[in-house]
Amino acid sequence: MQQLKIGDVTITSIIERDGPWRKPADMFPAYDPEVGARHLKTLDPVIFDPASGMMYITYQTFVVRTPHHTILVDTCTGEDKGYPAPMDFPKQRWLDEFKAAGLAFDKIDYVFCTHLHIDHCGWNTVLRDGRWVPTFPKAKYVFHKREYAAWEQATKEGKQPPGDVWRFNCEPIVAAGQALLVDDDYTLDDTVWLSPTPGHSPCHCCVNIKSGGQRAVVTGDLMHHALQCREPEWSTIFDWDAKEAAVSRRRFLGEVAGTGTFVLPIHFPSPTVGLVEAAGSGFDYRFVR
Ligand SMILES: [Zn+2]
Repeated sequence: MQQLKIGDVTITSIIERDGPWRKPADMFPAYDPEVGARHLKTLDPVIFDPASGMMYITYQTFVVRTPHHTILVDTCTGEDKGYPAPMDFPKQRWLDEFKAAGLAFDKIDYVFCTHLHIDHCGWNTVLRDGRWVPTFPKAKYVFHKREYAAWEQATKEGKQPPGDVWRFNCEPIVAAGQALLVDDDYTLDDTVWLSPTPGHSPCHCCVNIKSGGQRAVVTGDLMHHALQCREPEWSTIFDWDAKEAAVSRRRFLGEVAGTGTFVLPIHFPSPTVGLVEAAGSGFDYRFVR
């Protein structure tokens, strides 16, 4: 995705890493190889690498520029976190693309996190003199208050794998007074608002964007791969509550199917943005080029 324009808003992607990643059978416990093979034959070729048998999975941030604000949605894994492989992505590509998009750390107004996993809040903070501090000094960071509380609790119980995501990326934002701990009906203005899609994480949210009569939705990790549009019940090994994730996914896909709503799933490979159409008992994801 180079850039998506809806009304007065532009949405740009900043990529941290892309390429073949996991095999469907490793990602979806309910995966049926016969059904999967049938879908993969008719899905867009950008989503699967037949040579390795792996899905293409991208890690990216969306930059949403409205007439009033510059907003980042989800901030990849970041730098200096010391995460174990394979989550130790090189940082330079993200930094280069951030700069190429004409951005500067002190020009970001808001950071939204769809949820607080390792690959969605990394650039929230940077290490300065041995301390984690907000990367974007003037930004307000929007976290769902119960998502934040759930990871705080998990961290204190020693349950949050891998890395120390809450301590590194979330708590320092609250300590700096830059967090907005919100409910799942949070509305920034008449252009940007949240809607709840729990399951992948305790209080996962989508970020809705509306301008000039058009709508786009950053769907975070509501789905990781286009196979899950065909088979919404195929939750991933990373889902907090697999059943609830499937319910949220099917409900969302049903709501946007055939409406012309642009969908922006964080992990879908370039061109990323797509439209959803009803197809049999599931849905079809059509990339917009
Ligand atoms: Zn993710």
